[in-house]
Amino acid sequence: ENTLFKDIVSHAKEYGFVFQSSEIYDGLQAVYDYGPFGSELKKNIKELWWNTMTRFNDDIVGLDSAIFMHPDTWKASGHIDSFNDPMIDNKDSKKRYRADVLLEEKAALYEKAGDLEKSAALLKKMGQLLEAEDLNAVRELIVAEEIVCPVSGTANWTEVRQFNLMFSTQIGSLAEDSNKVYLRPETAQGIFVNFLNVQKSARMKIPFGIAQIGKAFRNEIVARQFIFRMREFEQMEMQFFVRPGEELEWYAKWRDMRMQWHKALGIPENKLRFHDHDKLAHYANAAVDVEFEFPFGFKEVEGIHSRTDFDLRSHQEVSKKKIQYFDPEVNKNYIPYVVETSVGCDRLFLMLLCNAYTEETSGEEENQKTRIYLKFHPALAPVKAAILPLTKKDGLPEKGQEIYKKLKRNFNVIYEEAASIGKRYTRQDLIGTPYCIAIDHQTLEDNTVTIRHRDSTSQERINADALEEFLHKECSF
Ligand code: ATP
Repeated sequence: ENTLFKDIVSHAKEYGFVFQSSEIYDGLQAVYDYGPFGSELKKNIKELWWNTMTRFNDDIVGLDSAIFMHPDTWKASGHIDSFNDPMIDNKDSKKRYRADVLLEEKAALYEKAGDLEKSAALLKKMGQLLEAEDLNAVRELIVAEEIVCPVSGTANWTEVRQFNLMFSTQIGSLAEDSNKVYLRPETAQGIFVNFLNVQKSARMKIPFGIAQIGKAFRNEIVARQFIFRMREFEQMEMQFFVRPGEELEWYAKWRDMRMQWHKALGIPENKLRFHDHDKLAHYANAAVDVEFEFPFGFKEVEGIHSRTDFDLRSHQEVSKKKIQYFDPEVNKNYIPYVVETSVGCDRLFLMLLCNAYTEETSGEEENQKTRIYLKFHPALAPVKAAILPLTKKDGLPEKGQEIYKKLKRNFNVIYEEAASIGKRYTRQDLIGTPYCIAIDHQTLEDNTVTIRHRDSTSQERINADALEEFLHKECSF
């Protein structure tokens, strides 16, 4: 299939970024664990997002709401009735597919073959049928397009059914329907139901936002492409509450600010684009995705949605509690409108990993060498620096330890003395450490060390006492 993507996935495993969950039991589909370097990278991503939202914006505060919520929440939000994907089974292989994905893949084939018109027509037709919820016609379309199951090779399809993506379980010890609760499929609803709690306790005035990072769960039917689509994942969402009528202005602002943010992470401009939604969700009056060009094509990493007052109004109706804001500036009570930015932490992780993965070939034809390194922005890199004494004798390890102990109070740094210096550099390249600090005999004389830069492999000498300042400056945005 896609060899570059395969290389990235195996690199992620081999160098301690991402493991398949429960691997010794042959894994659990679409669930992943983050290893020593992956968990550091993920933590850095979350911290950066959190700081961007809550420190750089005086009008945004944080929240950490529970995964479990009262089941009526999901009635109000529309998830019980309409958080569905259309699925279809192949009777021979017993494999389950998303009907819309099968048709999208067919459309992509037409596009690849140069038949853009046929591709667009198919997507349009599919959109209409799904909107009308004409599931029989969706099945007929799959049959008419002669789509076969990749496993069995047959077109022996079941009917198309709606499949709800929410996981459910019971609260308490009785397995009764009344005890049914859901694992939240998005973090947003925790923010909506706490709107008044936050607004009053932090004395916020509209316009203001609430930011939250947390796990979300979706029983995805098509669970492929590594951590791109997971059943358990983390969302970083910010809901911004505004005056009715001002939402589109704020939507445009957030749309641009979020794109700037992605560029600031070091993602090249040509690998990012906006994708406007042709079909809007029931709660939105404007929506756009930020897409990144993964090795498998341009795909969504973040959504910016103008959600109107749908959620707050709906919670007011179902809970029968007033959810209104008195705006002293216009002397009016109203239900605020919401503009949200919603990004998947794991997808951002995958974007950064794909963007960082670099294979560089150098040298003459016969003895070509390939160097692999991860060019993360130093502020995001899991390890900021490796302290490497050139040899294991002459007091170099002691000097190295002294520097290491000082730096590790403020930075995630590594100390390593085994193996040749070249091998140790290579190892740091593979996990994306931006700086290697080598201790040699000159260090003992004049207290200077060599800093090797990961991307250029160039070296410079600086005083060991200046290391902390150097890392502070380089490892920030
Ligand atoms: P998709 O169309 O890819 O299923 P979506 O439009 O349903 O995504 P939203 O509900 O808007 O996604 O969720 C906001 C963000 O959460 C997405 O942009 C994505 O980054 C992330 N996300 C959603 N579903 C998953 C998943 N199954 N695994 C990982 N991240 C996800």
